[in-house]
Amino acid sequence: MTNRQRVVVAMIDGLDPAYATPEVMPELDRLGANGLSTVVEAIAPTVTNANNAGISCAAWPSEHGITGNYYYVPATGEEDYMESAELLLRPTLMTQVADHGGKAALLTAKKKTVSLLGTKTTPAVAAEEPPAAFADRYGQPPGIYSAGINHWLWTVAVDAAPDAAFFATADHGMNYKTLVYDLNQALANRDAPVRRALSAEKDKYVRHHRTFGGTAWIWLNDPRDEGRVTDALNKLPGVESVLTRGDAAVRFHLHPDRIGDLVVLGDPNTVFGDLAPGQESEQLPSHYRSHGSLHEVPVPLVAHNNESLQYRTPPKHNKDLLTPLLTNWLPGTHHP
Ligand SMILES: [Zn+2]
Repeated sequence: MTNRQRVVVAMIDGLDPAYATPEVMPELDRLGANGLSTVVEAIAPTVTNANNAGISCAAWPSEHGITGNYYYVPATGEEDYMESAELLLRPTLMTQVADHGGKAALLTAKKKTVSLLGTKTTPAVAAEEPPAAFADRYGQPPGIYSAGINHWLWTVAVDAAPDAAFFATADHGMNYKTLVYDLNQALANRDAPVRRALSAEKDKYVRHHRTFGGTAWIWLNDPRDEGRVTDALNKLPGVESVLTRGDAAVRFHLHPDRIGDLVVLGDPNTVFGDLAPGQESEQLPSHYRSHGSLHEVPVPLVAHNNESLQYRTPPKHNKDLLTPLLTNWLPGTHHP
């Protein structure tokens, strides 16, 4: 492992294919033109942690266990953010590389990525709260909600591996949204109350689209409520489809123990989340964008300078980004 070519892997947050034009992103276009450039499918729900875990483990949520940004256990009432490595059921490729005598570093804007994916990475740098040595060398990074924080990270990455093979994809696309429902309230108002409705997107970064997202999990008070709740959901304008736990787990390769009894998908304009008491829906301002639905599934994938790390079959999903590392570096560790 010691003499391998270095590899830079970029997991770009919310890069819709419509944003990755040659005019807007000439460097990414140049890298793709001299390598591989395609559009693949993100994992549903199209939220950050499910997809970054998928890319990092080259696995579905049914295998790595991260089905969203937040979890709820109805049996115990326990709930928390899905950002701890203890919730990962698979080793990341960074961990596997380290176990095979290599080294892997993790550079990220958000602290939650380090706690979820940072096992056995050195260094693990969250620009939100960088180690002192990095702040001394590269300057204090700009704020977490700024574009400049990404430039800071790229400066560190290019400095660390200027001759690297380069692999990039995104966790999800982005769309403008016009309507948000608080499904706890909307269902209670329609004589179909539920135990818990939760946006799969819910995380700590509230200024990012107020944690509203296009997929919601529903836990029922009683299994016998399923028909009534499903009917009420299907009558809400903007709800695209309602799936049972079993159907959603099969269709989207999700871990059935870590999603709701029902899975609600929004149309391109509709998201779900918590609103103030007495308010079951809200019209969103014209600049509001978010993700989480099936309409944010297409994402770009780019590989460059990877002659020694070729794809054996064309990547179809963002989680396939690092399959060349599995097949070339880590044979025998892949469990399809
Ligand atoms: Zn994201």
